[in-house]
Amino acid sequence: MDPDCIFCRIIDGQAPARVIHQDEQTIAFHDIHPAAPTHLLIVPVQHIRSINQLTEDNQEIIAQMYMVARDLAKKHGIEKSGYRLIINNGPDANQTVFHLHLHLLGGQPMRYPMG
Ligand code: AMP
Ligand code: ZN
Repeated sequence: MDPDCIFCRIIDGQAPARVIHQDEQTIAFHDIHPAAPTHLLIVPVQHIRSINQLTEDNQEIIAQMYMVARDLAKKHGIEKSGYRLIINNGPDANQTVFHLHLHLLGGQPMRYPMG
């Protein structure tokens, strides 16, 4: 728990969020500035700054994040229309919250190319 981290504060119940899933390893909530009709964030409970800080011990957490993404895509009825899963890392990817999170975006055709 990092008291200066907004996602840790959400996990701890100190900051508000529209939480839609919680288990031992992950939490998921609606992004406060949605970039698509469905825009959810899947976040490990453990404070991990980015993919760069992952260790072998975190493999189960990463797998769980993608399993939750799969379940939430289904729950929001976009598993057939399609969706995009994104993890931003560092300055060039515009990472703004330094607590690892997986964006789940869907509900409209996505623009491409991404870069
Ligand atoms: P990133 O640029 O990948 O670090 O994404 C951070 C995301 O967190 C952005 O899409 C923000 O809109 C979102 N965000 C920031 N603060 C909050 C918050 N308090 N509740 C929900 N989403 C947030
Ligand atoms: Zn954190």
